[in-house]
Amino acid sequence: MVTRDPSVAVVGAGMSGLCMAIALLRSGINDVTIYEKADEVGGTWRENTYPGLTCDVPSRVYQYTFAPKPNWSHMFSPGGEIQAYFRGVADQFGLRDRIRFGTEVVSARFEDDRWVVRTDAGDEAGAESEVDFLISATGVLHHPRMPSIAGLDDFAGPVFHSARWDHSVELAGRRIAVIGNGSTGVQLVCGLAGVAGRVVLFQRTAQWIVPMPNPPYSKFASRSHRAVPWLDRMAYRAYSFVFDTFAVALTKPGLRRAAMGALCRVSLRRVRDPELRAALTPSYEPMCKRLVVSGGFYRAIQRDDVELVTAGIDHVEPRGVVTDDGALHEADVIVACTGFDTHAFFRPMRLTGRDGIAADEVWRDGPRAYRTVAMPGFPNFFMMLGPHSPVGNHSLTAVAEHQADHILGWIQGWRRGEFDTVEPTQSATESYNDKLRAAMPNTVWTTGCDSWYLNKDGVPEVWPFTPAEHRAMLAETDLREYDLRRRVAAR
Ligand code: NAP
Repeated sequence: MVTRDPSVAVVGAGMSGLCMAIALLRSGINDVTIYEKADEVGGTWRENTYPGLTCDVPSRVYQYTFAPKPNWSHMFSPGGEIQAYFRGVADQFGLRDRIRFGTEVVSARFEDDRWVVRTDAGDEAGAESEVDFLISATGVLHHPRMPSIAGLDDFAGPVFHSARWDHSVELAGRRIAVIGNGSTGVQLVCGLAGVAGRVVLFQRTAQWIVPMPNPPYSKFASRSHRAVPWLDRMAYRAYSFVFDTFAVALTKPGLRRAAMGALCRVSLRRVRDPELRAALTPSYEPMCKRLVVSGGFYRAIQRDDVELVTAGIDHVEPRGVVTDDGALHEADVIVACTGFDTHAFFRPMRLTGRDGIAADEVWRDGPRAYRTVAMPGFPNFFMMLGPHSPVGNHSLTAVAEHQADHILGWIQGWRRGEFDTVEPTQSATESYNDKLRAAMPNTVWTTGCDSWYLNKDGVPEVWPFTPAEHRAMLAETDLREYDLRRRVAAR
């Protein structure tokens, strides 16, 4: 029996924030405010608009189960189409009226069993408001990391990060220097090849690449998925099964890992020139860094107008990039595909929990969570895609839906008056993190490479089990692992 209505603030209107807000609204919780510092929804899909951007997770499984899109254009659809999907979902579920666009949450503090949320907006309503629950949905790949290369500011042409694409810059016929060959750099090289005059890819560390064709869906497929909705559900389940199988390769040594490795090694044979092939061959195990999925990269890199440079970058001068062998690689535009600060999570938002405890202090040695979604000392606070979420080569829409359901379960408990505040206990959080740490040596991420999955001590910060195990973990609740409290005088 519902006895009271909670107020909930969600920080971020990206994929996970929209998912959380919709879960709340669909369960009848209407006092939901979404804070979004930009002027549009979509998060990473709003910010990334570089040529060649697609999602390397198949569209039929990179969509919400509650908002299937029957007419995806491709198996791996382009970024613009995915962004249009999230914009459409925001409209379909009437979210826009609840989103405070252009409003950044700068801090939040827990006071008198409620969260006081402070924004940078000095509007009439005041910059502070109080809510019963605070949910961070600020994304993982959110803070672009520019490389610190001497002379970068002296370059005569445009320089920008891949997530801050400058669409005013003409590409046709220009010489583009691409720094970094992760998922972004590889997609960008494919997108620029044949469009730009010349593309020079600066590779610091070779990457393993799994080739995946990206066929378009026929009109017949779209019509069938629209007419027969269970086709969509079947495709979703089939892809989920594939990802769970793939996750076993990532998290446990064995046959599947060996098979994936063999596939990557065989694919490299597509590069005919032995010298180029050697330059593209990593010295670490396949999948140790996040596996790059690309059907076109090996073709693109063998083009005459695309060059691979493996010498280290020494500095940049006005005419181009100078490598440590003294060569000047002249360029008109430099694009840094150098990744993101993936350990920031909700920061720089300042979070102050029970008894004045600061999140920055708690996370001094690195981000830690309980079951990816909660933190001791921070009652009624939850995270979407929090620390150790399964963010590597998995469908994040699926992960977000499971986390949203779990968080909603707690909020429903509050609604029924079962408690006033909930937070995980310190000891449960410690033993949960011990379990994660114990599983890390089994994972491929610890087999001898550097990647954004690792913390400063070289320990992976991602989920060391399968997505199915993450789902199962969130589906069960052990009340002994939570500190549930009631106010002395009920509100
Ligand atoms: P990333 O995987 O972190 O790769 C950064 C690249 O920049 C690496 O090649 C790195 O080299 C290089 N680099 C960094 N600093 C450098 C420097 N100072 N000098 C030279 N090279 C430097 O970043 P990303 O490619 O943007 O991808 C980040 C994540 O975004 C991916 O792992 C994925 O999760 C996500 N993503 C997803 C998709 C999708 O389709 N779903 C597409 C793009 C990105 P080292 O390897 O030597 O460090």
